[in-house]
Amino acid sequence: MLEIDDFTYEFHWLMDMLQTIDVGLCVLDKDLKVKVWNGFMENHSGLRPEDIKDQNLFDIMPNLPEAWLRQKTKAVFLLGTRSFSTWEQRPYLFPFKNYRPVTGVQPHMFQNITFTPLKSVTGEIDHVCLIVYDVTDVATHKKSLLGANETLAHLSRTDGLTKLNNRACWEEHLVSQYSRYRRYKGECCVVMFDIDHFKKVNDSYGHPAGDEAIRAVSATLLEHARETDIAGRYGGEEFGIILPETGEEGAIIMCERLRLAIEAIRINHDGHSFQFTVSLGISVLDEGCTDYKTWLACADQALYVAKDQGRNQTQVFGRTQ
Ligand code: GH3
Ligand code: MG
Ligand code: MG
Repeated sequence: MLEIDDFTYEFHWLMDMLQTIDVGLCVLDKDLKVKVWNGFMENHSGLRPEDIKDQNLFDIMPNLPEAWLRQKTKAVFLLGTRSFSTWEQRPYLFPFKNYRPVTGVQPHMFQNITFTPLKSVTGEIDHVCLIVYDVTDVATHKKSLLGANETLAHLSRTDGLTKLNNRACWEEHLVSQYSRYRRYKGECCVVMFDIDHFKKVNDSYGHPAGDEAIRAVSATLLEHARETDIAGRYGGEEFGIILPETGEEGAIIMCERLRLAIEAIRINHDGHSFQFTVSLGISVLDEGCTDYKTWLACADQALYVAKDQGRNQTQVFGRTQ
């Protein structure tokens, strides 16, 4: 009768376990021919080990990143050390579908891969084992967390009503532009503007109508701003614009265009139709601005003069006061 020793039992158990383990195992020889292809690899690829044994991996899976994989395995054969690839470096090596119900939004299985050298009885490294871990859950959660953080960061910088930079964010820009233009010189202006007699708008047509006017001003502001201009909602119906690479003349042209465009806006709300104007103050960054606060205060001062002199106009700090 045939004697089955402990070693043989253990060997069979091990083979069973490797076959059913929820991790991919793929052993390749030096010519990158498939020697082992466990149940995980078979289930996800649809390729049966008996059909692909001794075939070149790139013949059976032509979409693999051949140059990268050759390089990776070559290093393992040469150095005899393990090597890794994480989903963050390369989302997946084997293009397996993601079947997980929870993370079903991802079309592909994310994979971490370990490349392990295997020695023959003579001590020569003649095979490499690719261990494939399905890390779709981890990857999906991390990606959604990153996405949520980005959204939160965006929200914390954005004004809810107008989607412009909010005051804190706009002031940060003001500080950085101030330092930049102080260091490298060049021309830069800051503008503050405010809707005229806005209390009357709210009182006559209601707060929602006022909100609509604020949104219309923001949209017109964005239409007239250059890509490099930085617009923000500074307060209720008060706005700020930083105009990099712009001197006094350019700032006046921009402000007057904006003023006329806003004057032409007509709001139709709840059966009412109304128009309004804005007053603008420009502050040119010059030697007199010892810090960003002074720079901004000068724009506010010019705005005050514009209001004082009859509204619906642009004033430059230091020109008429
Ligand atoms: P002036 O021409 O001097 O600027 O007169 P004004 O009436 O516009 O005066 P002021 O700028 O002080 O008025 C601000 C008004 O804006 C008061 C406040 O009720 C209104 N306001 C502030 N924030 C909002 C907002 O988000 N929506 C609406 N609808 N109104 C706002
Ligand atoms: Mg106002
Ligand atoms: Mg105001």
